Amino acid sequence: MLIKILGSAAGGGFPQWNCNCRNCRSLRDGTYKGKPRTQTQVAISHDTRAWFLLNASPDLRTQIEATAVLHPRNHGRNSPIGGVLLTSGDIDQIAGLLSLRELQPFRIYCTPSIRRILQEDNSMFAMLNRVPGQVSWTDISCDRSFCLQGERGVGIDCRVFSLGSRFPAYVSRDRSLALKQGDALLGLIASSSSDRRMAYMPAVPDVDDSLLEQLEETDLLLFDGTFWSDDELTRVQGSGSTAREMGHIPVSGTEGSLRKLAGLQRPRKVFVHINNTNPMLDETGPEYAQVRAAGWEVAEDGWSLDL
Ligand SMILES: [Zn+2]
Repeated sequence: MLIKILGSAAGGGFPQWNCNCRNCRSLRDGTYKGKPRTQTQVAISHDTRAWFLLNASPDLRTQIEATAVLHPRNHGRNSPIGGVLLTSGDIDQIAGLLSLRELQPFRIYCTPSIRRILQEDNSMFAMLNRVPGQVSWTDISCDRSFCLQGERGVGIDCRVFSLGSRFPAYVSRDRSLALKQGDALLGLIASSSSDRRMAYMPAVPDVDDSLLEQLEETDLLLFDGTFWSDDELTRVQGSGSTAREMGHIPVSGTEGSLRKLAGLQRPRKVFVHINNTNPMLDETGPEYAQVRAAGWEVAEDGWSLDL
């Protein structure tokens, strides 16, 4: 299984258009010892012919153009992108679908709740179904595995599990209550033909023993690296929500992901979805050194991984 990291930042990207934090400011003035990043986006393939997007970031159009294997290959209009798997309904994970509305057939895999939010509550997404045979929708659930279907019936075996019950802020309270809570936020484990497994989870509210057990059976972990500390955003903005209130376990601290996942022996561990305020983006800083010393990597746009 081939894995392309097209984007590795959290919502807003790095730098973020309205942010003048130390990271964003010094990146703009050319003194930052770290790399700019687009919003988190991953593409996977089992054969390099058919590719599947894990979510659809607001930067998707430029991310596809920056990735040759995702370009059309035949005369006229076509795409090697066979489908999109949605792990949540967050704007950062679905907005890119609107950049895929040019009548190209593909499949969207998501929970029934996310499908209802998109199809029934947000009429713009009807542009994905303007003509027969455009986008097909496949419901997925936590109790049965499924296959991202490529050419000739071959595909990537997947299973998902619930990581949270909070739907995005744009979903009304009444609507949220009418939906299946476990559908709100998923973690994904995708298996290669040689049964090597990748876990993809750009948003993780917390880590418990059952999640740890699942992750110990994987070979590659792409994990929530949004915030370094719980109060990171409130310190930059002067107000707002903590990391945990936003559904992200922080990297540092006694209850952070570095500590909680320290015992994981098997998988290669990579942080994705890194917010522009996160000090571990500075490759000369102590936070980056701490992460690397703990055996983790900090994902960068353009990385290719193989399982
Ligand atoms: Zn910033």
